[in-house]
Formats: sequence, structure tokens, C-alpha cells
Amino acid sequence: MGNKYVLLKEKIYAGQRISAEEAVGLFSWDLLELGKAGDHRRKLATPGEEVGFIIDRIINFTNVCEAACRFCAFHARAGSIPPYTLSMDDILAKTEALKAAGGTQVMLQGGLHPDYTLAFYVHMVKTVKENFPDIVLHSFSPAELVHISEKSGVSVDDAVKALKSAGLDSVPGASDLLVDRIRKIVSPHKITTAQWCEVMEVLYRNGFKSSATMTYGMGETVDERIAHLMTVRNIQDRTGILRAFIPWSFSPENTGMSHILPATGIEYLQIVAVSRIVLDNIRYIQAGWLTEGLKPAQVALCFGANDMGGVLTEEVVVKAAGITTTTSRDRMIDIIGNAGKIPVRRDSDYQVLERYA
Ligand code: SF4
Repeated sequence: MGNKYVLLKEKIYAGQRISAEEAVGLFSWDLLELGKAGDHRRKLATPGEEVGFIIDRIINFTNVCEAACRFCAFHARAGSIPPYTLSMDDILAKTEALKAAGGTQVMLQGGLHPDYTLAFYVHMVKTVKENFPDIVLHSFSPAELVHISEKSGVSVDDAVKALKSAGLDSVPGASDLLVDRIRKIVSPHKITTAQWCEVMEVLYRNGFKSSATMTYGMGETVDERIAHLMTVRNIQDRTGILRAFIPWSFSPENTGMSHILPATGIEYLQIVAVSRIVLDNIRYIQAGWLTEGLKPAQVALCFGANDMGGVLTEEVVVKAAGITTTTSRDRMIDIIGNAGKIPVRRDSDYQVLERYA
């Protein structure tokens, strides 16, 4: 190994920030060396061995979507799920079931429906919150917020303010891949990278917390993967609103891109470790058990990840792409415990609610 490798390794172990060019080089590291470096940075971010999970539910209230992204198997025109819209009673019944299962968070997410305006979204948030004041609404997405504001002729800022006063608590980042070359191919009718960043700034000014995700394996280069991480790191430097980062691989089945071979488990572990090293300003990196499977997610806990995300008593979007992994509170406790970690149930703000010996 050359001098460059030794210097970079020293930098990483000293907890220093690395450049985009250095980050690209990490993809040629030996996998276990990379994992050890990722785990070291994880210990700097969260000393101790606790790994959290939350009991939550995604309620996908409609799959009717104007954007019809090529990489999405969920929207009605992809053909795997017929068009549907849930009634308010359906939404309340699903929230009730989550509460009965000990859940604390609901993620309301839909397609970019051609008819739904801000008034509809405000009504939905208000109704759920009035009926379930203790349930945290971590809901919608930057693309939905831009869509709502355009449909209603108001600014994103006004839409966010209205949703906040209706009871919205926080907004998931749903970033996909923040590289416009890829976005033009896979989701040409969805927001651009610059718009995603603008929404994050609006959420920050309105006192919201958020997260960032990364969907990789859609034909992007290693440089583009790092460009995504740099955009996320810059936003976090400016706002500090990202509570977590969640990388997951693209699932091609039932999408308009089914010719693409799925990314490998090795790539997943590389992405987790590189994300942990590059994102020195984000505390939690989630292991994506839903897309990668429970066992690879367990390994990711030794590569830099320190959270298992949601138990998700219901999920539709990933299921539409042919993935049927499910879990439960007890299974999650086992998976975390068997990785040599301490399982904890947490709330939306990453505060511990229950510790399991
Ligand atoms: S990814 Fe979102 S915006 Fe794109 S088609 Fe699917 S539901 Fe619609």
C-alpha cells in the first residue's frame, strides 16, 4: 500500500474530514479494512454499543402519481399495484393498529397525485393528529412538498408552515440519488438536486428535523455516489437538520429499469462504511434491512451503521419491487443482540424508550 493510503488511514482514525477525491479512493480498499475504519468512525459518532429501532408504520395513502418515475415499482402506471387511494377512515384505522402494536411514528407518504392540494394534506395531518396526539407524524417528502405547493399556488415555505400548524412533526429526506444526470434518466418529472436542497433549507428555517437517503445501483459512477454524499454533507453543515442517513440499493424488479442487475452485498457494505467516514456530521446511519435483508443489515452494524430504522408494521413501496422482508420487535432485538450490540427501542428523535439486556 502506498503513502497516500497510510496518510488517509491516519486521517480517518484521527477523526478528520476527508475530501471527495479521498472518498473515491476508499472504494478500492480491502473490504475488512474499510469496515474497521467505518466502525471506528461510528464509535467517534456514538460511543458505546447501543443500536436503536423504532416501531413505526408507513401509510402510503395513494399510488396515483404524476411523476411515474422509471425506478419506482409503486406508482400505479408501473403496473404492479392497481391505482388506489385510501380514505381518511382507512388512514385512521391503520394508525390505530400501529398504536395498538406499541408504535410511535407514522410516515404518511403518497404519489404526486394530480388532484390533491394543500387543503387535502392539511386536513389529513389535522385529522390524524386530533385522533392520535401522541403519534409522531414523520411524513411526506421534499418532492411531495414541492408538488403540493405547485398544485396549490403557494410557496414551499407557506405549505410547510401550514402543515406544521396542522401537526406535522418532521419530514423524511427521500433523497433518491442527488445527481441530476441520473435523476434525468430515472425520475425526470421529480424535483432536481437543487430543489431538494432548497426544501431542506425551508424545513430548517421552519424548525423541522429531517433525514437523507441514498438509492444507489441505478447506473451511477463511483464519483457520482460521492457527489451525492458531498451534497448531503454540505446541507448538514449548513442546517444540522439531518438526524440520520439511510443508504439502500435500487430494487429493479417491476420497475421500468428491470434490465439493471441489482447491486451486490459487498457494494452495500462499502457504501455503509464510506458513508460513515464521509458523513462526519451525521450521528446515525441506518442499516437498510428492508431492502438488503436482515443478515446483511446485521453485518452493516459492524461497518459503521448504528441504527436499524423502523420495524414498519406496514410497507408497500419496497414490496412492489418484489421484496418481502419483514420483521418484528422481537426479531429486531435478536438481530441487534446477536451482532454483539445492545438493542434499544427509540423514538423519532433517537431518544431511548426501552433498553433490552
Ligand atoms: S418515486 Fe415517488 S414520485 Fe416517483 S413515481 Fe414513485 S411515488 Fe411517484
